[in-house]
This record gives sequence, C-alpha cells and structure tokens, in this order.
Amino acid sequence: MTQKYYPTIGLEIHAELATESKMFCSCKNNPDEEHPNVNICPVCMAHPGALPTFNKKAIESMIKIGMAVGGNVADFTEFDRKNYFYPDIPKGYQITQYKFPIVSGGELAGVELTRIHLEEDTGTSKHDAGAGSLIDYNRAGVPLMELVTEPVIHDPETAMRFAKELQLLLRTLGVGHANMEKGEMRVEANISISPDPNVFGTKVEVKNLNSFSVVGKAIAYEIKRMTALHEAGRADEIVQETRGWNDIKGETFSQRTKESAHDYRYFPDPDLPKLHLHSLFSLEEIKGTLPELPWEKRNRYVSEYGIKPEDIESYVTDITLGAYFEKVVSLFSKKDAGLIILASNYITSDLIGLQKSNPEFVFPTHELFAELITLANDGLLSSRAVKDILPILASENRSPKDIAEERGLIQKNDPEALKKIAEEIIDKNPAVVDQICSGKESAIMSLVGQMMKATNGSANPKLAQDILREIIMK
Ligand code: ADP
Ligand code: ZN
Ligand code: MG
Repeated sequence: MTQKYYPTIGLEIHAELATESKMFCSCKNNPDEEHPNVNICPVCMAHPGALPTFNKKAIESMIKIGMAVGGNVADFTEFDRKNYFYPDIPKGYQITQYKFPIVSGGELAGVELTRIHLEEDTGTSKHDAGAGSLIDYNRAGVPLMELVTEPVIHDPETAMRFAKELQLLLRTLGVGHANMEKGEMRVEANISISPDPNVFGTKVEVKNLNSFSVVGKAIAYEIKRMTALHEAGRADEIVQETRGWNDIKGETFSQRTKESAHDYRYFPDPDLPKLHLHSLFSLEEIKGTLPELPWEKRNRYVSEYGIKPEDIESYVTDITLGAYFEKVVSLFSKKDAGLIILASNYITSDLIGLQKSNPEFVFPTHELFAELITLANDGLLSSRAVKDILPILASENRSPKDIAEERGLIQKNDPEALKKIAEEIIDKNPAVVDQICSGKESAIMSLVGQMMKATNGSANPKLAQDILREIIMK
C-alpha cells in the first residue's frame, strides 16, 4: 500500500509595477522597449556619486495592493541593500526591503500572505554564441514587488488559482500588466512533502515558471518526484535546493544546492531616506481610489444577476467583457432576470465565439445588442434568427428589427393568423390528430413542423404548439 504524503507549497511572486519611470531614477519604465540600453542613466547604471530618489507612485501602488489583500500597511519602512555580484546588477547590490516590508500579512484567494515588499528589477542578459554575454539594462531599476505566501497551499491547482488571482488583482488595480510570458510576473514555488501533516519536509524552490500551466506542472512533477523518493526509501536524497523547469522534458532539474547560498549582508541603504508612510501618504484617500475588487465583483454579480458561475468568471477575469455585459444590462428598461440571462448567454457563447473565429470581429454596440436580446426575449426572434443577425448587427450597425424584417425573421405571434393556418393543417392531417387524441402527445410536433413550414419559419413554435393543442382538444 502506498503511504500518503502531504504536500506543502509556498509561493514567491515577483511582478513589475507599471509606473511611468523607474524606482530610483527618472528613466522610463517601458517593458516593451525593443532597443537595448536606451532607458538608462547614471543612477540605474550605478555611476559613482549618483544618488537614488524613490518613486512615490510605486510606493502608492504597493499601498493599494496591501489594502486590497487586507494586509497591514506599515508606517515605518526602509530600503536595504542586498549585496551580490551578477552582471545584470550594475551596482553590485540590489535595493530591496528586508526587515521592514511595506505590507505584512493579508490574504488572497484563500491563501495567507507573509509579506509584500518593493525592490528594483535587474537587467536582462542574453547569452549569444558568437558575442558572449549581452546585457540590456533597460529593466534594471524597474519597480518590482515581491509577494511571499505562507506555506499553506497543498495542491497545484490552488497555487495556479492564486497566481491567476494575483495577476487579475494587479490589473484591476491598474498597478501592473503582469503578463507571465513577458516576464512581467514571475513565480517561484517552494515545495515539500511529508508523511506527517504536522511536520514540514525539506523544501525545494522551483524558479523560472513562466506560465500558469507551468506553475501547475512543475509543482505536480515535484510532488511526484519526492513521493517516488520517499517510497523508494531514498527520502534523504531530497535536499534543499533551487531547481529549474525544463519545458521540453516536462521535468524540473537541480540548479544549485543551498550550500552555495549567498550571505547577502543586507543593510539599510544609506542613500535613501527612511519612510513614515502614514504621514507621507493619505491612506484614506488611497483607499477611496480603490476600484471594485475581483472578489467584490463576483459577489455583486451573484447577488444582482442570476447568471451562470462560468459567465461571472468570464466577466471578472475579462474586465472589458464585464463592462460590456453591465452596460447592456443597464440599457434594459426592466431588470428582468430572463432577459439578463439571455443576454449573458449570447455574450459568452455567441459573441465570444464570433470573436474567437475572427479576431477582427467587433462587438455590436450595447444599444443594438440590447435591442436584439429584447426582441428575442419577447418571442419575436428564434434563437436561430438571433445567431444569424448577430454578425450582421456587428458589421452593419443597423437596427436588429430592420434586419429581421428584411429577412422575414420576425416570428409570427399573431394568434388569429396562426389559428387559421393551424385549422387548415389539422383538417389535412386527420390521422395525426387521431394519434394525438389517443394519447400519443408527441405526434403534435409533426403538425408544429408543418406550421413552421407554412409560415416560412416565422411562427413562434411554442405559440404554434399551444394553438394546435387548443384546437385539437376542443
Ligand atoms: P527561505 O529562508 O529558504 O527563504 P522562507 O521561510 O523565507 O524560506 O520561505 C520562503 C517561501 O517558502 C515562502 O513562500 C514559504 O511559504 C515557503 N516555505 C517555507 N517552508 C516551506 C516548506 N517546508 N514547504 C514548502 N514551502 C515552504
Ligand atoms: Zn536611470
Ligand atoms: Mg526567505
């Protein structure tokens, strides 16, 4: 029998803040700059005598993040030097925060946070076979937040969900783009397993996880690798180390063991002032600028609209789509639950579908779309007709009613007219009527079909059926 092992995971996530300028100088912070070494100056290039000044906007962003996650926003905070040599840090140290992070505690996606601190990003190096190593310092000195979670995650899915929620939060707050594939958000996962849920096992740290799915895959791989070692009686081979992810093999691999860990000799940076955030910023004012947060939006959507959980998730994660939905709903004169659900179904299945098959597809205006959904909800358009009208609506920008009339898509709902047609069809089909009368109710569908045919598909099928039944049962 295989023994059960309890996995424990803690995440360390770095994310660049989308400020105009860098953290300690006025160089542009532009992650999309294609030319190397254009956004640099004596400060971020560490020329002797150059003095850093801190970026107030970056600190404000950190305060917003801290408030959003319900963490403690420190009054006293300071920056420290983390000393190590690497070509991508021109100073020979990185400015970071050690003992006094801006934010401590808090919770996100059900995961408790340890801290969130602010530091500067490094340059990027490229290893070129012919030219040796090339270094681009455009990124050196860009404000970077580092969030550390408590070791309270126990499965890869929760870790992925946490990282996604953080990305969404940063985007919602407007403080970062957090594209993982661009390295604007970088996840490191600490993983251990233990046969005893009350004792931690030895952890490894997996770095360079550059997509959500890789976060999940690397954690699952480590849990499997460590479990196999335990089961083979080789648990002592699990050592505290840094591992990388090989995406081609779908495996982690050892990069360096803790023996070579640095002594960073942290100390407060003497060139930067110590800060008292509560007097430097109006926390009340910042709190007032916070937008509706993703989880608040989820709760509001649940209580205001009776739409599917998947639809809610689409609106919360795609901010533009959510705004489209809300604008459409605001145009409905009565907040009818059926109408709202119908609109949501057509947005998340049909509009999104059209957009997927044609990236050029532009959504119809809110007004025209709301009008279309109202027609459908009033029984004037079949779902087939709505699907046919949608792409025309988007490209021609004309009233859905006009389009429907032109194409004869308005369903006939005039009971008198339908009654006449129904009577004719009943007269012509005595055998079917007999079947229905002797209990084979479903036979009525063949008569409904004939009514649809007689009206060129414009009859409301539900109404047609009701009328047929009424006449037959009389
Ligand atoms: P270190 O001193 O090695 O940097 P920390 O205690 O600072 O370790 O924790 C770094 C990260 O590792 C945090 O996210 C924390 O939650 C996580 N972590 C700590 N211990 C474990 C463990 N035994 N298993 C998994 N994750 C852990
Ligand atoms: Zn600079
Ligand atoms: Mg640590």
